[in-house]
Amino acid sequence: MTDIMHSLADIVGEDYVSSQPEEIYFYARDPGLMPPHEPDYVVVPSTVEEIQEIVRLANREKTPVVPMGAGLALTGLIIPLKGGIVIDMKRMNRILEVNEGARYAIVEGGTSQGQLSAYLEKNYPRLRHSIPDAPPTATIAANVTIHGQGRLTQQRGFNSDMVGGLEVVLPSGEVCKIGSCALSFGWFSKGPPLPDLSGLFLGWFGATGIITKLAVKLYPRKKFRDVEIFVTDRGELVPDIVYEITHTEMAEDVLIFTQPMPLMFRDNHHVSFYITGDTDEELEFKRKLIWKALDRFIKAKDGGFMGIPPAMKPTLLEMPQRSASRLADVKRGGGFEYSGPIIMVEKYPECSEKLKELASQYGLAYSGMVRVIDGGHSMMFAFAFAFNRSDPDMMENTRKALKEVSDFVLKVGGVYWKPTVEEQRMALENMDPNTRKLMKMIKENLDPNGIMNPGNWEFIS
Ligand SMILES: Cc1cc2nc3c(=O)[nH]c(=O)nc-3n(C[C@H](O)[C@H](O)[C@H](O)COP(=O)(O)OP(=O)(O)OC[C@H]3O[C@@H](n4cnc5c(N)ncnc54)[C@H](O)[C@@H]3O)c2cc1C
Repeated sequence: MTDIMHSLADIVGEDYVSSQPEEIYFYARDPGLMPPHEPDYVVVPSTVEEIQEIVRLANREKTPVVPMGAGLALTGLIIPLKGGIVIDMKRMNRILEVNEGARYAIVEGGTSQGQLSAYLEKNYPRLRHSIPDAPPTATIAANVTIHGQGRLTQQRGFNSDMVGGLEVVLPSGEVCKIGSCALSFGWFSKGPPLPDLSGLFLGWFGATGIITKLAVKLYPRKKFRDVEIFVTDRGELVPDIVYEITHTEMAEDVLIFTQPMPLMFRDNHHVSFYITGDTDEELEFKRKLIWKALDRFIKAKDGGFMGIPPAMKPTLLEMPQRSASRLADVKRGGGFEYSGPIIMVEKYPECSEKLKELASQYGLAYSGMVRVIDGGHSMMFAFAFAFNRSDPDMMENTRKALKEVSDFVLKVGGVYWKPTVEEQRMALENMDPNTRKLMKMIKENLDPNGIMNPGNWEFIS
């Protein structure tokens, strides 16, 4: 054993540290397209104090540390680009408190989406959190670190907007509380009325600290939930349709999908909206308001509602939805990856045209998946392509298509979501120079030895 290995074993116990090739293999990659890179060690700590000691050790040894949730971000954010220690957070998975009155839950930094939703369903059936459509093992802390989005995002903003406070191990090894919990026993706000320091950690992909606890805001879970799908073959009308739906303020979630398969979907744009209510009357009231708002498109013969077969309803209503991964034939070694820029809804027609153009140019199966954010202030447009891992040409074509998406996004005023390292570089090069300087100051002051998830948000001087 090396000195570092001994020290790590002293901190977490021999059973929870490894440098064995068969384990290192898995921690070197994610399910997306990025090339793998091996860590030197993997540790699975169970307490905040252990994480503090690991980070202090990494500082002394000038060795990178990469915090990891479920490794499902797909864009290579947990690949240890410069080796070092991967900190697998999965043992820190306790649900510490649910404050029913103030509607928040405090969880540890490795708690998964599935754990919290199952716990709430069983113990607090009138409460829910914003569940992303990622597999349920995805962690809550990582999802807010990458500004994820979920089922309540249309009404409430990014999942990171729904954070009620953070506990973070800083790159120095100190523990710091962020938000109302810095001053109060209540975890009801991530910042206001204090200066909002959560921005030093959210969006940084673990490059400024490790979240060991966080509070997520909870919202009413209504008894009934339903979905409707409005279909149009005129992509240029989709922004107007979304505008009318969001104007009613009745929809919980608004998603749009466009894909060529099955054949009946080809060249159509499906705007699905979800409504909730505690009674049939509430549900019907919301449904009718939205129907009325879309009436003019029906009268002009520009679109209409799709009858949803009863067998399809449960699939559409499940949380998380699995339709994204269905695009890829995972069982036969398929994969999929998407670039999901955050962009104004008015850019939908250009984005869907670009998606089709790239799919045809590179001969790829595609799907466009959109989530409307925060009442229509923006959307996440996922340019998703499926590939077969055993076909190197197809993998290369997918890389090329996604690279073209990265260039296109900047041209149409989009901002990368969970960007790859290459997209992070492009963002840094293209942003306001004083913003870049400010980000650099923050990173260098918090992490002077550059040990936290290096390669990410790395600054070219
Ligand atoms: C089929 C599919 C569907 C998806 N749908 C959605 C969706 O609807 N909405 C959505 O938002 N995302 C979606 N995603 C993307 C992604 O899976 C999720 O955002 C997920 O929440 C990431 O969580 P994770 O635990 O896998 O993160 P990881 O990949 O493990 O980590 C992501 C980043 O967070 C950092 N990190 C991890 N833990 C910590 C910590 N405790 N402190 C600080 N930094 C940390 C990592 O270093 C990395 O930079 C989807 C992915 C797939 C495969």
